[in-house]
Amino acid sequence: MSGVTLQKVVKRFGEAQVIHGVDLTIEDGEFCVFVGPSGCGKSTLLRMVAGLEETSEGSIRIGNRDVTQADPSERGVAMVFQTYALYPHMTVAENMGFGLKMTGHPKAEIDRKVAEAARILKLDDLLARKPKALSGGQRQRVAIGRAIVREPSAFLFDEPLSNLDAALRVGMRQEITELHQSLKTTMIYVTHDQVEAMTMADKIVVLNAGRVEQVGSPLELYHRPQNLFVAGFIGSPKMNVLDGAEAAKHGAATIGVRPEHLDIGAGGPWQGTVGLTEHLGSDTFLKVTLDSGEVVTVRANGDVALHHGDRVSLAPQVGKIHRFGADGKALA
Ligand code: ADP
Ligand code: MG
Repeated sequence: MSGVTLQKVVKRFGEAQVIHGVDLTIEDGEFCVFVGPSGCGKSTLLRMVAGLEETSEGSIRIGNRDVTQADPSERGVAMVFQTYALYPHMTVAENMGFGLKMTGHPKAEIDRKVAEAARILKLDDLLARKPKALSGGQRQRVAIGRAIVREPSAFLFDEPLSNLDAALRVGMRQEITELHQSLKTTMIYVTHDQVEAMTMADKIVVLNAGRVEQVGSPLELYHRPQNLFVAGFIGSPKMNVLDGAEAAKHGAATIGVRPEHLDIGAGGPWQGTVGLTEHLGSDTFLKVTLDSGEVVTVRANGDVALHHGDRVSLAPQVGKIHRFGADGKALA
């Protein structure tokens, strides 16, 4: 097991700089998620940790070793990709043990490690099957098994669940979290999905255009986003952002209120008209056009009997207004 430290890490592809000096410490045993929109540099950063991309500037340490110049095979990490690329002609057991076989490990040791990984991943009954006889989720578990048998000091996952359907994603998300709890090995997990980040991470790193916007626990990012980017990226539906007279009243260039922090009821300070409504049963989502012309989303618990055209008053909950300056940074 090993922590991972990045210092002033820069990546250029030719003239184009895509990572702009990232400093980051991932503790030994931590589950760290890199999250951000497509193209922000998540995969590039992960591939630099794995040694699959050269580091243009700065340094990368794994455990107490500087691995900036080390080959991928010398870094002691194992990577799991979105496309799991199993060998179709090999069984599950052969797929999992193939890497160890290539590096000359004795058969008895390979069998023992494959059996142990299969037990952890609940693949015991599938060891003799070929990949074509597996579901997408089972194939992804085999790909993870391939990583486990190598006993890496850190696991690196690049959007491993993106190819799975929504229901399977939820199940695999929980399995990977349980895997981390039983192995207690450092894991770095890349996703563009903030729900995956929120539900899986000990530590989230929010990336945007090759820079770190904020590092923190899921609830730190939810309750105390340091800037408008993080405020908008973490949480679903998105935080409402108002920059007119309401913001000025609070001494800010912009204020933000999450949809779940707007109460509907008589006497609220904001008046508006209900537009689109979504009745999910457990929750009701409402678009409300305020009399100022600004549109906000409201998330109410349960089934709320409001419909298009109804007049409502809204009250932001006490202490739930986020204030931002003209530079987009949160005000104290
Ligand atoms: P993400 O994984 O967050 O979607 P990537 O790390 O794949 O983003 O890409 C970050 C940026 O680097 C993008 O602008 C992408 O086009 C660019 N990039 C990635 N790989 C290469 C490459 N091999 N050559 C040139 N540009 C690249
Ligand atoms: Mg990527």
